[in-house]
Amino acid sequence: MKIGVLAVQGAFIEHRKMLESLGAECVEIRQKADLEGIQGIVLPGGESTVQGKLLHKLDMFGKIQTCIREGLPVLATCAGMILLAQTLYNDPVTHLATLPVTVRRNAYGRQLGSFITDQPVKGIGEFPMVFIRAPYIESVDDSDVEVLATVDDHIVAVRYGNQLGLSFHPEMTEDTRIHEFFLKMIQ
Ligand code: GLN
Repeated sequence: MKIGVLAVQGAFIEHRKMLESLGAECVEIRQKADLEGIQGIVLPGGESTVQGKLLHKLDMFGKIQTCIREGLPVLATCAGMILLAQTLYNDPVTHLATLPVTVRRNAYGRQLGSFITDQPVKGIGEFPMVFIRAPYIESVDDSDVEVLATVDDHIVAVRYGNQLGLSFHPEMTEDTRIHEFFLKMIQ
C-alpha cells in the first residue's frame, strides 16, 4: 500500500515513520507528480496558512482537492484538518474545503494552547491526544459527518466517508492505532 505524506511544511516525518512501522510504503509529496499512484494521503500538522499557499505555489492544490472529492482516503491532523475544513470560524480564507465542518483555528489560545489528555475515540478507545496550538471543530455542517471524539464538549475528531480529521497529533505518540485505523479505511 502506497501512502502519500504531504511534505511541504510541518510534522510529516513523524507520520511517515509511523506508517512505515506499520508496513505501509510512503512517498513524500513535494510536487504534483508525487501524487501518482497513491492510495491514501496524510495532511500533517504545521501552519495551515503556509501549507495552503504552498499547495497553490507548487500547483498541487487542484489535483489534491479533486482526488479527495473523488474518494482518496485522507488523514488530516491539526493544520491538515484546517486545510480540509469547508468553513473556518475565525479566518475568511479556506483551503481544500472538502470536509463540511466549521473549524476554529488556535482554539485553545496561541501560546499556552498545548496539552495532552487521554480521551476516548469511537472505535478505538482511550487515546493519548497531543494538542499543539490546536484547532477544534465548532460545528459539523452535514449529517453524514461522524463525530469520533470530543474533549470538554468540543469536537476534536471526525470522519466523513474517506476523510478523517483530527485536532490532535497521533503521530507524536507511540500509539499507532489511529494510523492503523486509517490503513484499514484504505483496504
Ligand atoms: N495553529 C496551526 C494553524 O492554524 C495549527 C497547529 C498545528 O498543526 N499543530 O495552522
